[in-house]
Amino acid sequence: MSVSRRTLLAAGPAAAAGLAMPAGAQTSSPTSASSEDRQAPGFYRYKIGDIEITAVHDGSAPRPLENFVRNADIAEVRKAAEEAFLPTDAYQNTFTPMVLRSGGKTILIDTGLGDTGAPTTGLAVTNLRAAGFDPARVDIVIISHFHGDHINGLRLKDGTTVYPNAEIMVPAPEWAFWMDDARMAQSPEGLKGSFQNARRVFGPNPKDVKQFEWGKEIAPGITAIDASGHTPGHTAFVIQSAGKSLTHVVDLTNHPRLFVRHPDWSAIFDMDADKARATRRRMLDMAAAERTQLAFYHAPFPATGHVRKEGNGFEYVPVQWMSAM
Ligand SMILES: [Zn+2]
Repeated sequence: MSVSRRTLLAAGPAAAAGLAMPAGAQTSSPTSASSEDRQAPGFYRYKIGDIEITAVHDGSAPRPLENFVRNADIAEVRKAAEEAFLPTDAYQNTFTPMVLRSGGKTILIDTGLGDTGAPTTGLAVTNLRAAGFDPARVDIVIISHFHGDHINGLRLKDGTTVYPNAEIMVPAPEWAFWMDDARMAQSPEGLKGSFQNARRVFGPNPKDVKQFEWGKEIAPGITAIDASGHTPGHTAFVIQSAGKSLTHVVDLTNHPRLFVRHPDWSAIFDMDADKARATRRRMLDMAAAERTQLAFYHAPFPATGHVRKEGNGFEYVPVQWMSAM
């Protein structure tokens, strides 16, 4: 693509949507104009039966490989990254909220980092708008679990509600864990921030938050299922319509090139490492056997594909990008 076309695209809808790069986020090269460094808006649409899905890119942030996997030697982790053609010092962790149009409702699953992350994150609302969605017209926001990269986009640091007319739905076991004041008081210092953050995000109107149970259809075509281990209430979603199905496994794995390939590795984010590992094995086994299409929150964009058995683990096979649904 020629530079002029790239410039034109970058200066078009993205600029109109206020995607100006914040000061300080400029690259080190003084000659590179920031508008030429950016991609086109990050959204990708696909269909599962009559349900329209839009993967929305919230951005990415580097994650050092050092101290990332609890039960594998750093040399092994670097080797896996090298085999996957990923950087061997730090890889880019991506964040992928999902919008569904189903049963006349506009439904968002997870929200991205909002204004709490690196300048290269928090793009969900910009990309949502670029995809034609108005945050004020989102009917339901479903939350998979309470880690900051999934909930922080619900509320800006100044308190503003980002989806003012949406019903907020959360997994009951996740709510029970994080909103328990006694548990917060007893939790190690490193975890207290997550308890406090859940209160910041949900706290002002906790009664407005609706809790859902596993095994139930919680919105048209969307069934919540137990995928606990990563967090106590970590939830996956089976999305079904007209004989088609997608399982959104959310944080069943972090980067699939590392953790689908090595399902027994425990990322430091997995709160119950043994349970997370068992859940991961069980769900990946089932998806491989049934050839189920999966969506992941932390897979390379547009974060959907299949898995097949490979050695002692699995291989992730991304879907083919299509120009039309
Ligand atoms: Zn996550």
